[in-house]
Amino acid sequence: MLGRLFETWMTRIPSQCAVCRAWPAQRVCEECVQRFARPVPRCRRCAIHVRSGQPVCGPCLLHPPALSSCHAALDYAFPWSACIADFKFHEDPSWAGMLAQLMMQAPGVSEAMQQADWVIPIPLSKPRLRERGYNQALLLARQLLGAADPGRDRLQAHLLWRVQDTASQVSLTRAQRLSNLRHSFALDPAQAPLLKNRRLLLIDDVMTTGATLHSAARVLLQAGAAREVHACVLARTPASW
Ligand SMILES: [Zn+2]
Ligand SMILES: [Zn+2]
Repeated sequence: MLGRLFETWMTRIPSQCAVCRAWPAQRVCEECVQRFARPVPRCRRCAIHVRSGQPVCGPCLLHPPALSSCHAALDYAFPWSACIADFKFHEDPSWAGMLAQLMMQAPGVSEAMQQADWVIPIPLSKPRLRERGYNQALLLARQLLGAADPGRDRLQAHLLWRVQDTASQVSLTRAQRLSNLRHSFALDPAQAPLLKNRRLLLIDDVMTTGATLHSAARVLLQAGAAREVHACVLARTPASW
């Protein structure tokens, strides 16, 4: 209760725009949002920029990814990369609320939220969670659910685990090992039946190559026999090939 009151209070404090320094403003002022968060045509499978009218990018057409759809609100570039770094390293409820609001305004996100049976934030590994103290994807998921459908509890924050499979890593190079560690997931076997025939929605803050999200989607589809896995991310690296 007190936490919620503090959160409301924090989001109402006027502050300086983190981009243009206008005062008073929300975390990012309306003008900067208009200027830097304009929707662009994106591939519906991986959220990379495409030409207007092109539904899917070339690589997704050739090799359809595990995700049925992926929506991104922003490019992971100026000024959002700096805002996201601030959000990641300082637990500040006003960032989570503002950034989730930008996600909800992006084409396709509100529909994806409405249609999902379960909303699953991408987990952090245990050492990373200990180091940071919170999972930024979980903060975004909570805000999105609060905006989409406050009465329905569809959050599944402990179903997917980030794992470190050290036994199979011995023969790999250091770079391959690090990459594998980042992208390994497992499913809580006790909760796998929850997924059967369900439409799942993964939430993450930043999508770079897409390897993390696609790997999580594959685990969910294989182990739990989920019907479809979709994703909504705050920011997408503009080009990954
Ligand atoms: Zn501004
Ligand atoms: Zn694509």
